[in-house]
Amino acid sequence: MTHRRPNRVRGPVHDAFWTWCGKGELRLQRCQACGHLAWPPVEACEHCASPKLTWERMSGRAKIISWCRFMNDYYNGLLPLPYDAILVELEEGTPFIANPHEFDPGEARLDLPVRLVFIDCEDETGAFRLPVFGKS
Ligand SMILES: [Zn+2]
Repeated sequence: MTHRRPNRVRGPVHDAFWTWCGKGELRLQRCQACGHLAWPPVEACEHCASPKLTWERMSGRAKIISWCRFMNDYYNGLLPLPYDAILVELEEGTPFIANPHEFDPGEARLDLPVRLVFIDCEDETGAFRLPVFGKS
């Protein structure tokens, strides 16, 4: 099943992120100068301004640190209401906003372990794989 989604942020560094997602890999940029893990994608490190960034594969393990349910239609009916968002902390330490996969946010708890899953989506620019998180 393909899920219709709002348009992704596009551009050279964002497109690199989506290409990795298309391969089933969640990769974030690691600064080779100071070690900072950047999210969202950047042209240069937000801590030390180095342009030397490499795409590092994340483990896919995370824990929930916040969640919410959207009751208002911000996307002209594109997403069925209500829809849910979770804020997870990746095992590597970076916060990452995503959708819960196959569980109700009513089941969400602080520090609940979750695991990365990719779902097939499309926006106005084409098909892509979206990283989401299910209970592990
Ligand atoms: Zn840096």
